[in-house]
Amino acid sequence: MMRLRLKTDLRTLIALLAIISIVITLANAMYATWRVQRMVLIDNTLEANRAYAAKLANTSEIFFQLAQSQLHYSASLLAQDFDNPRLLQQEVDRLRTQTSSFNSVAVVDASGVVKAISPESLMLKGMKLSSTSSREALSQRKPLVSQPSISASNNLIVFVSWPVRRSDGHYLGYVGGSIYLKKKSILNTLLGEQFYRDGTNVYVLDSHNQVLYHQNPQRVGSYLPTMLTGERRQQSSGSMQLTLPGDEPQLAGYALVPTTGWMVVALKPTAVTLEPVAGLLMRVLKHSVPFALLTLLVAVLLARLIALPLWSLARKASLMDVQGVEKEIGTVRAWYFEAAQVKRALLTGIGLMQDKIGRLKSEVQTDPLTELLNRRGLGIMLDYFRSLQQPFAVLALDIDHFKRVNDNWGHDVGDEVIRQVAHSLRRNARHSDVVCRSGGEEFLMILPDTALDEAEKLAQRIRRSMAEMPIGEVGHITLSVGVARWSGDSQPLERVLKQADAALYQAKGAGRNCVMIAKS
Ligand code: GH3
Ligand code: MG
Ligand code: MG
Repeated sequence: MMRLRLKTDLRTLIALLAIISIVITLANAMYATWRVQRMVLIDNTLEANRAYAAKLANTSEIFFQLAQSQLHYSASLLAQDFDNPRLLQQEVDRLRTQTSSFNSVAVVDASGVVKAISPESLMLKGMKLSSTSSREALSQRKPLVSQPSISASNNLIVFVSWPVRRSDGHYLGYVGGSIYLKKKSILNTLLGEQFYRDGTNVYVLDSHNQVLYHQNPQRVGSYLPTMLTGERRQQSSGSMQLTLPGDEPQLAGYALVPTTGWMVVALKPTAVTLEPVAGLLMRVLKHSVPFALLTLLVAVLLARLIALPLWSLARKASLMDVQGVEKEIGTVRAWYFEAAQVKRALLTGIGLMQDKIGRLKSEVQTDPLTELLNRRGLGIMLDYFRSLQQPFAVLALDIDHFKRVNDNWGHDVGDEVIRQVAHSLRRNARHSDVVCRSGGEEFLMILPDTALDEAEKLAQRIRRSMAEMPIGEVGHITLSVGVARWSGDSQPLERVLKQADAALYQAKGAGRNCVMIAKS
């Protein structure tokens, strides 16, 4: 019984199972949400950046085509009257101010001398240009967009030019416009129009990965060394995950500007992209927890409902030798298979046990004089306790100086005294105790589930009541008692009976009418 109580009960086990299942389910849901959300966010951002880069690349492409067609128109106009300074000046001013495509516009003759320039404040009129882009325009004599370069006035510029030819094809020079990449220009405005509130960065790179545009002007002119080389340069647009040197991982979308060979790159840090995931997880958790708690409550109630019949049966099982326990077992609601089977087995077991006790009471095992169990009946009872490993205390009792009774009042009176003592023992015993006449005027009492001190108390009570109760003409008689205990384990049961006898012998030696406890 003691051991049973220390063990975890079924209800706790079922509730634990429920808690573990709920926690695992919840964790799994969170993990799945995290994985899926992360994937969706990364894929969406890669695609959004690609589309954004493609849109900016397209805008830039249109800008350059427009710039070139403006220069083309002017070139044919200038070819008609190339030596008219007023016309030239008018035309460069018009190109610069009317369209605002260019930061500066110049007409240069075939020898590289500036014939007109706007704004005039640049003071280059009449001077010979020696810049790479100018030399390239003069030598190639075709429409060009130059590589970015540092200008005479220390601007990072690109130069868009168109050759001026007479109708007979004679080369007169070129008209060209420069765009200052670090200063406010229409290209800057076009690229910078969309904002980067969401942490997206835009770079425009030339074919050597030099930065031509970035919202932070200090980065313009620097190089992004590992960016987009080789085959990616061939594609019109795409996306990838990458890490810039000394920077965090980024989600990149990129697109090519065909006229210039430039690359527009839209970047968003992966960490920034994934920021909403934590909040989303918290929301999932907030929505799941009440339901999980409700499930838990239901599980705990169910655990109780499932455990209750088995728990009641287990409790009753420890009281199997108490009279009326079948009725109590009968009231346990065994509403499912296992409980019903256990209940049935218990009832059958009790039936068998009571049948056995009934048979023990049969004549063979009963002493005719006292109607107590005889030695043989006691043997069967002890076998039964042994098989149950049922601990018990034992009292060995012997009437003091019984020979004198026989001698003084005769054998029949002696018998009557034995009967009276038997009756008294019965009256003092509990229902579950076994009382047996083990020989002449000697008795044994088996007290199941009884500690030594309880057994001693009972022995003293029996001893006192005998000593105080006169028996007919014989008057007062006394008992000596030895007490021992069997703990139900491997200790041999017979040895305990011997210990009780030895204690009884000690009681006799100690002057009789007393109780002695066996030293275990
Ligand atoms: P003590 O136990 O105190 O040492 O002394 P005692 O006189 O009781 O000694 P002992 O136990 O040795 O004697 C038991 C006597 O009980 C012996 C026997 O004549 C008598 N006796 C045994 N069986 C019966 C019985 O069934 N009826 C009667 N009347 N006497 C019996
Ligand atoms: Mg005796
Ligand atoms: Mg005796």
